[in-house]
Amino acid sequence: MTTKKCYICGDFESKLFRCKFDSFEWVFLCQSCLSKVKKSHKESYRYGGTWKIKK
Ligand SMILES: [Zn+2]
Repeated sequence: MTTKKCYICGDFESKLFRCKFDSFEWVFLCQSCLSKVKKSHKESYRYGGTWKIKK
């Protein structure tokens, strides 16, 4: 299995969004956490692409 975990809620998802906020580390977020981060970290938020499981 090659699922990834959302950095914030800890859910395993087959599609995650790579982004940065408040640090220099790239993290993976699910769609709902991504939209929260976008709103709460407008200054530091950077989008790094979508990650999907290859079948
Ligand atoms: Zn999440």
